[in-house]
Amino acid sequence: MSESRSIDARAVDGEARGVDATQCGGARVVLQACDVRKYYQLDEIEVRALRGVSMSICEGEMLSIMGPSGSGKSTLMHIIGLLDRPSEGSVTIEGEEVSHMTPNELSAVRNKRIGFVFQSFNLLARTTALANVELPLVYAGLSGAKRSRIAREALERVGLGDRLGHYSNQLSGGQQQRVAIARALVTSPSIVLADEPTGNLDSRSGIEVMAILQDLNAHGSTVALVTHDANVSAHAQRVVHLKDGLVEREEHVENPVVAASQLAALDAEGGDRA
Ligand code: ADP
Ligand code: MG
Repeated sequence: MSESRSIDARAVDGEARGVDATQCGGARVVLQACDVRKYYQLDEIEVRALRGVSMSICEGEMLSIMGPSGSGKSTLMHIIGLLDRPSEGSVTIEGEEVSHMTPNELSAVRNKRIGFVFQSFNLLARTTALANVELPLVYAGLSGAKRSRIAREALERVGLGDRLGHYSNQLSGGQQQRVAIARALVTSPSIVLADEPTGNLDSRSGIEVMAILQDLNAHGSTVALVTHDANVSAHAQRVVHLKDGLVEREEHVENPVVAASQLAALDAEGGDRA
């Protein structure tokens, strides 16, 4: 009882801090972080990585969380992705408050609701693209034939239908990141979370990855990415600016940059030169 009262108190506290509960307009709120704080103890020093962050991710949107290095982006990403717990504050996914969940309950929610894309791809090296993408479905307990069909479809969706049997180390960085996106998709998560997804890529491959994320979003996926790069953020519909562990401001992007058009323009330039 006292627990639910304290959650309510935090929600009210969030409103008092100017959290806009209508951030999502008419859309459903998929994820809500309320007054999230994260403190790390380093020897005698307490590092305040997040100092009271409140934000929502709305169904069907493409959101960017942008800020300079050290502003707390990865810390926030790990907390909303349920890989880490806040020191204080709450996270609610699909209406479920996760603070009081056991580690097993948390990983069940994470596996079901969240697809991760990391800067460094995090693929298994001497493993085929198909097997990498099947992996979350192994954990989900699907049969071999079904797994391989769903994984193949996801790889076709990111344009890698002809690379199913390639090992990760036989693929370019951009292709590896596309495999990682396919892997994030196979469980049909509520949100795809990407931490600096283009950070290790050359600019063209980065735009290709943004084109895939925009395409997923156009087909209904909710995408939230973290970046320090304004050029990457420009592809999102909404930007939450993070600074020193706090939300500095929020921005609606009137005309997000269309990555597919950027690619077409690059191809045209290449054609001129040839
Ligand atoms: P960003 O992703 O925006 O670069 P981070 O979330 O990685 O920022 O880090 C935010 C702050 O928290 C930084 O000052 C960083 O040094 C500190 N920090 C992050 N992780 C840890 C940790 N495990 N232990 C101590 N300090 C940390
Ligand atoms: Mg980071």
